[in-house]
Formats: sequence, structure tokens, C-alpha cells
Amino acid sequence: MNLSRFFVALGGTLNNKKPPIGGSSYAIINGEEALVIDWGAYHISPSQRDRIEAIRAVTSAGAKLDMLEDTRYPVISPMPDLNAEAWMDDGLKPYMPDDSPLAGVKKIYVVGTHGHADHIGLLPLAKSKYGDRMEVYMTGPTLALAGWNWEDHLKIAERDGSQPLFTPWDIEDLKKSVHLIRPYDAITCGSFRMIFYPAGHILGAVGVHVTAPVSMFFTGDSCFHDQHTVRGGDIPQLMPNDGIDCLVAEATYASAIKSVDREAEEARIAESFLNYLESDGRVICPSLAIGRSAELYAICEKYGITERFPVWLMGAACTTGAVYCEYGVLNESVRDHFVRKNYDAKRILRSREPSVVIAPSGSLSGGRSVQFVREWMGYEDTLIALSSYQDPCQPGFDLMRAKRGTLVDFDKEPIMFRATVEKYELSAHMNGHDLDWLRDELRPERTLLVHGNEHEMDAAIARSGPSIIKTRVGEHLHIN
Ligand SMILES: [Zn+2]
Repeated sequence: MNLSRFFVALGGTLNNKKPPIGGSSYAIINGEEALVIDWGAYHISPSQRDRIEAIRAVTSAGAKLDMLEDTRYPVISPMPDLNAEAWMDDGLKPYMPDDSPLAGVKKIYVVGTHGHADHIGLLPLAKSKYGDRMEVYMTGPTLALAGWNWEDHLKIAERDGSQPLFTPWDIEDLKKSVHLIRPYDAITCGSFRMIFYPAGHILGAVGVHVTAPVSMFFTGDSCFHDQHTVRGGDIPQLMPNDGIDCLVAEATYASAIKSVDREAEEARIAESFLNYLESDGRVICPSLAIGRSAELYAICEKYGITERFPVWLMGAACTTGAVYCEYGVLNESVRDHFVRKNYDAKRILRSREPSVVIAPSGSLSGGRSVQFVREWMGYEDTLIALSSYQDPCQPGFDLMRAKRGTLVDFDKEPIMFRATVEKYELSAHMNGHDLDWLRDELRPERTLLVHGNEHEMDAAIARSGPSIIKTRVGEHLHIN
């Protein structure tokens, strides 16, 4: 066994699904070289921060990983030299991977699997720290979507008057140095060889099959069923008696072994939207900027809603929608539905004409969706159509439980709530059924679970036995 070769989870994820045990950044260290999959940011809500802060106060300054009560948040020692404000400021702030296992490494190869901030959000910071020691690989669409995320971080910092974690120069330097890859490319980076597979999930997403010096498959965030804008993911085809050493799989919905009938769910969405629109009602869809907003638009198009009623994409959904257009997975005509100017957004906000508004953020933690829900939630003919995960610490979760006809605290104000809230399942992640299928196909000796809730991981382990393990930030797992 080569003891200088090991797998380690570095943490770092924007995902508020608690806890990000393995996070969504992890590395294979091979002597003086490292292959790192993703370099995201972990955003914490104020209440999560308060709890973590309380625990931190009683842990030693050098402690790398502590478990917080029953919920077991990883508590990673802060990096005050990078940005103390990230820890101290109000609101959601990024929290970063713990890169201390890379200390003795001379060359770092990073693959950015896809453009969500919890996977690529802090790459400009990492690149500025490691310079020429770091080479970054991602697909063209991932770079375009990542670029929007990085710029957005600067905008938010400016709006909030906080110190950004990186500068426009860092973004430019990184963009110039990224090596573009495509699905099914095979590349060699030092001692690592790898092949990329389309991962579904969102435009540009890839899974990574490392074929040397070990045999490992990293799913990243994967979705194996077709969506409107991306096909379902693909995986390596192995010889009948072959198998990989290790599968590193996302555990986001690892407990779910029944798949949602996507067609039926889309039909349910179209039917309820039309019910409201035909009765002169309005529909607000708080949605993730990347991926989900484009999918919701495509569903409206498929069911003829875009032809009969105004359907608007707001703010960041336009920027990311334009990237989807450039890669030909959304019709060019979507551009007629972009609302970029404040003036136009305000006009739609105040208009009583039936319309569908698709606006980030999906969890109502900020962005245009908050404005529209606040303005429209007092009307009985409003449908608030949620399709993203709703974290218990965020407003969407409370709205799902709010009683109609009562005053509800929303965006720091009590507002009369008369609208209807519906939740739709449009997951773009693999589930437990997919995980079991992957294990049958790839026959891994070990499966490491990352990116998800511990409860989800436990369910997969209970179902499949001891060859599946959960990863903990900072823990070294030796690989042959
Ligand atoms: Zn993702």
C-alpha cells in the first residue's frame, strides 16, 4: 500500500442541507501531486453560524474538525488570513474548503465539475493563492456559468459593503488559465489520467473517471434522467469482470429509492399554472439561477404557456439563460422573455395581468423572487410555485407552513398571507435508486459518500452494507 496516496474530503459547500460532511470539494493526494475535484464555498445562515460560533468558542484554535451536537456540522478552523469577515459578517457568507492537506503538494490539478457555486465558487481565491502550482480544468459552459457566479460574489460584496474573497483580477487570471475540456475527453495531468463523462444535472456538468494511478469515479452532482435542457448523465462502460476501486458519489437524495415521474410532475406544474392564469391569477416561481430557471421556462414553452400568457425571467435567470441559449439548449426566443431593467421589473411587479415570473433565488433568501413574493403574497389569486430544496433556516420553508389569512413575517415585515404555496419535485440530482444502479454497473470495492445530509448517507449505508462509507472533512482514507 502506498501510504502517501490518500483521499481526503476538504469540505466547502454552499449547500445548506446539513451537514456537508464530505462537502463538495475533495482530493486524491499522490505524493507531491494532488487531483482536487471542485473548490466550492460553504454558505452558512446566521442561525447556523451562531450555533457553530458557540461551539467554536470552546474548541481549541487549531482544531480541524469538531462535531456539533446531533446535527454534526463540520467546524473547520477559520482562515483569518484570507477573510475574517467571511466568518464574522451578518448574512450568508461563503465558507471555504480546508486545504491544509495540500500543504506539501507541489502540483495541484483541479477539475470544476459544474457551474454551481458550491462546486466552483472559490476557485479564483484558490488560484490566487497557489498560482502556477495549480492547473484548472472545466467545460466551456461551466466556465461561463462559473464566471457569472464569481462576478455575482463581487456584486453582493459591493452591495453589502463587505470585503470580497477575491478581486476582478483574480477572476480574469483564472479565466485566462483554465484548460477547457469536453465530455469524453481523456487527459493526463502528471501522474493522473482521467476521462470525463456528461453528468446531466446542469449544462456543462461532468463526472470524472480517474483511471491512473487509481481507478475512481467521481459523480459530482449527477442526474441520470433527461431534462429539457440537458440529457441524462453517462458513466464508464467496464468489461464484464472489471470494476473500479472506488466510487465517490453524491448522497444528496441517497435515501430515496423511488424516482419521481418527471413527465407527470411537469404536467402537474403546467396544469396548476394554467389554473391560476386562466382565472386572471399570477404565478411566481422562486428558482435557482442556474439550471432550474431554464427548465421552468422550457416547461412553460412545452405546454404552450409562453404563447398564451406573459412568462418572464428575472435578473440572474437572464444571464444564465443567455448561456443556455449560446449552447443551443434553450430556444433563442427565450431572450424576448428576459427582464433586465429595474423599471420593467417594477412594472410587472405592480401589474395585475396574469403572468408567470421566474426569479432567483429559489429559497427566497434574496433576489427578485423576494420582491415578487412580498408584493403578491397578499392576493388569493397568487400561486407561489417552489421547486427547490427549502432549508429550514430560510423563508421558503416557513412559507410552506404558513396559514393563509394570517400575518406572516416575511422579509423582516409582517405581511397578510393569502396566496397558495405549492412544492414541485424537479430534482436534478441522482437518488438512492441511481446510487444502487451505479454500484451494480461500476462494481466499486468501496463507495465514499459526499455532498449530502448524514441522514441520507445513513439510509444508503443501511441499505447496502459496510462497503459504503461517509466521508468526514479532513479524514485521510488510504487508497491503493
Ligand atoms: Zn450542483
